[in-house]
Amino acid sequence: MSSTLSDQYLSRRSDLWQSSLAWQPSDDQWTLLEQLYQGILDGNQQINLTRLTQPDDFWEKHLWDSFSGLWPWLVPDADRDWTVPPVTRVIDIGTGAGFPGFPAAIAQPQWQVTLLDSTQKKVRFLTELATDLELLQVRAIAHRAEFLGHQPAHRDQYDLALLRAVGSATTCAEYGLPLVKVGGVAVLYRGQWSQDEAKALRRAAGKLGASILATQAWITPLTQGQRHCIYLRKDKPTPDAFPRAVGIPAKQPL
Ligand code: SAM
Repeated sequence: MSSTLSDQYLSRRSDLWQSSLAWQPSDDQWTLLEQLYQGILDGNQQINLTRLTQPDDFWEKHLWDSFSGLWPWLVPDADRDWTVPPVTRVIDIGTGAGFPGFPAAIAQPQWQVTLLDSTQKKVRFLTELATDLELLQVRAIAHRAEFLGHQPAHRDQYDLALLRAVGSATTCAEYGLPLVKVGGVAVLYRGQWSQDEAKALRRAAGKLGASILATQAWITPLTQGQRHCIYLRKDKPTPDAFPRAVGIPAKQPL
């Protein structure tokens, strides 16, 4: 990977982290996030990783947004009506340029993070970037979620699945829940969120052995966009029929 630094730099914005999430990256974590930004700018010259390359877009729509879904683990003592389960193994499904998986690995270095994407060349890039950032607890795998969900080495193995911008909420539930242990959680990152979507998701989650644990609404701090993070808890094993064959969860959502 090239080591040229771009002339685009992120502002740290400590005040905004604190006022929005009551949390902020430490100095060491911030250094890694800046290196992540530069690595992705570099990689973007070779392959199409992200269109969000301007510093403010990257800060808000990749970094802040990724951390918003991890908030229960970043601020575990906040007032909430559910118990935040302990996490060791995490899978980020449809990770793209590594979001939210890289921010997760940087904020929680004790987590073992698997980045999953169906595109081989993205996975090669992610593997190289994880090595460059010395994130030894991160691995990247090239597969479809529908395939991995039936592999014994991955099915029922993760405490936490993260899914951002990978499909409809019900499609994401079908990708994520087979990979999560009973008692584990899948986080679905959504923009706007309606009662109808919640109803459809509740029904689909039931078929997959899960229920909606919590829904957290956010307003993004720079451009005031709406976000919702939906937390699904796996209550019992997902039936063997799920995930369905490659392409079916997206074409015929539950
Ligand atoms: N999660 C990232 C983010 O929020 O920036 C990337 C989102 S990108 C729009 C969707 C990614 O999911 C693509 O990189 C695509 O290759 C991957 N993807 C889509 N369907 C998938 C599947 N069934 N299994 C694994 N990866 C998938």
